[in-house]
Amino acid sequence: MRLEGDGLKDEAEQTARAELAAEPNEHFDVLIVGAGISGVGAAYHLTKQCPEKSFIALDMQESFGGTWWTHRYPGIRSDSDLHTFGYRFKPWTGPPIATAAEILAYMGQVIEENDLARHIRYKHKIVSARWSSREMLWTIGAMRTETSEKLTFTANFLWMCQGYYRHSQGYMPTWAGMDAFRGRLVHSETWPEDLDYKNKRVVVIGSGATAATIIPAIASDCAHVTMLQRSPTFFITGRNVNDLAETLRQLQIDEAWIHEIVRRKILYDQAAFTRRCVEEPDTVAKELIGVVRSHLGPHYDVDKHFTPNYRPWRQRIAFIPDADLFKGIAAGKASVVTDQVECFDETGIVLKSGKHLDADIIVAATGFNISVLGDIDFLVDGNPLVFANTVTYRGMMFTGLPNLAWVFGYFRASWTLRADMVADFVCRLLKHMDALGAKKVTVALREQDRNMPLLPWIDTENFNPGYMMRAMHLLPRRGEKPEWQHNQDYWSEKDEIAATDLSDAAFVYE
Ligand SMILES: Cc1cc2nc3c(=O)[nH]c(=O)nc-3n(C[C@H](O)[C@H](O)[C@H](O)COP(=O)(O)OP(=O)(O)OC[C@H]3O[C@@H](n4cnc5c(N)ncnc54)[C@H](O)[C@@H]3O)c2cc1C
Repeated sequence: MRLEGDGLKDEAEQTARAELAAEPNEHFDVLIVGAGISGVGAAYHLTKQCPEKSFIALDMQESFGGTWWTHRYPGIRSDSDLHTFGYRFKPWTGPPIATAAEILAYMGQVIEENDLARHIRYKHKIVSARWSSREMLWTIGAMRTETSEKLTFTANFLWMCQGYYRHSQGYMPTWAGMDAFRGRLVHSETWPEDLDYKNKRVVVIGSGATAATIIPAIASDCAHVTMLQRSPTFFITGRNVNDLAETLRQLQIDEAWIHEIVRRKILYDQAAFTRRCVEEPDTVAKELIGVVRSHLGPHYDVDKHFTPNYRPWRQRIAFIPDADLFKGIAAGKASVVTDQVECFDETGIVLKSGKHLDADIIVAATGFNISVLGDIDFLVDGNPLVFANTVTYRGMMFTGLPNLAWVFGYFRASWTLRADMVADFVCRLLKHMDALGAKKVTVALREQDRNMPLLPWIDTENFNPGYMMRAMHLLPRRGEKPEWQHNQDYWSEKDEIAATDLSDAAFVYE
């Protein structure tokens, strides 16, 4: 039966296809969007778990790494440990907190050891993705970033490993008088190579992991660096060493074993810590703040600058290796101002309190612009995709969006734990489709889900960082049942996702 509007849909689809059809066409079973930690992981898992599948990963950057390739600010490092941020299949042998260079070297080894380079094409920006149920195919429009040459690929399955934010531009709030400032205003996400901060007065706006990384990294070179924060953040400090890993190494235990044992220990400890944050948030807050106090001494106003007004773990807690941020503050090279920007002027920032911060350089460490689907223009059978109208299946698939999986990691545990888990799921799903002879899989609400209330993507009682709050209207909805949400709980998901019954009525095959 043809419905009204079908003709129009066909027309829209044909126009879109006509734009692309003239271009050379390559076909792959799977097309991976992105070659960051998730995309390279997806490539690895495909070669191991579905060796018969042809695939390609496209990335608009010049090299692999995603976050670790594009971020160039001084001191750039992970804020979670690399035993769990590293892949489960490749032992991490360095210190737990790693620099971007160390993470890139590790990823480079994964690519080389598994011959993945031939599957990855860089400087390819994906601009459009069209699903056709008639052809049971995705048609992907891409552009070579150097030449603007248009390319077309087709794929049976689209694996979205595009991360969650726009790499080309960070989130820059608009402040009155920004144009008047005579110094340099930069964003941490697009750090200029030529930025000379030697003997300069630097103000870093922000209080998260990025600000806490940049400040100790530049403090000894600057005349002075000030962290200007609207409100304080929780931090954890500790030595950048994993004692258990070191002990096992002394005992000459195999690195693969060390990796597995240390991951289990870290995840066990994190589960206990997360439980404590929920059950006794005040005690945990007191402990975290107490550690800061011990570094800054009795005369420092910890209540004002390091006592957050939210519960620990509602926002990611940044790890400060060797307490370097606090050492910089205690040494007088760095300071913290808890206030708000009233406006910029020629020489710095006027604060709401009326005080003035003199600055030669202002660094906005103000977070991300969320990009939920890699800024790709999606059409499904001729209809523009409204992602926010879909309902998510465990944060991996979406109602009405066929043959597509999406990687979104954890806030409270390392991202890659989930990237590995989603990869297992996708490979199992691809094999299941082959066994059924199915060309299309879509998730759909079942009869028993019909009256299920639909809620925003995340429970803001549970987690509420600014960048997620700003993007909530762009994100899919979740249901009340665990399978219809990404609950951010690694410890339950690790068993539940692995146990997913692919014959369940939530999976519709054609
Ligand atoms: C400074 C910083 C530190 C972080 N530290 C941690 C940490 O310690 N632990 C942790 O768990 N998480 C951390 N995160 C979060 C981090 O982004 C993720 O953990 C992880 O790196 C995301 O990997 P990804 O491959 O999914 O996405 P990304 O790293 O964002 O990579 C996505 C890739 O996809 C490409 N891409 C996107 N759209 C397109 C398109 N349309 N066409 C072609 N290519 C496209 C991008 O160019 C990019 O290379 C950090 C984030 C930042 C910014």
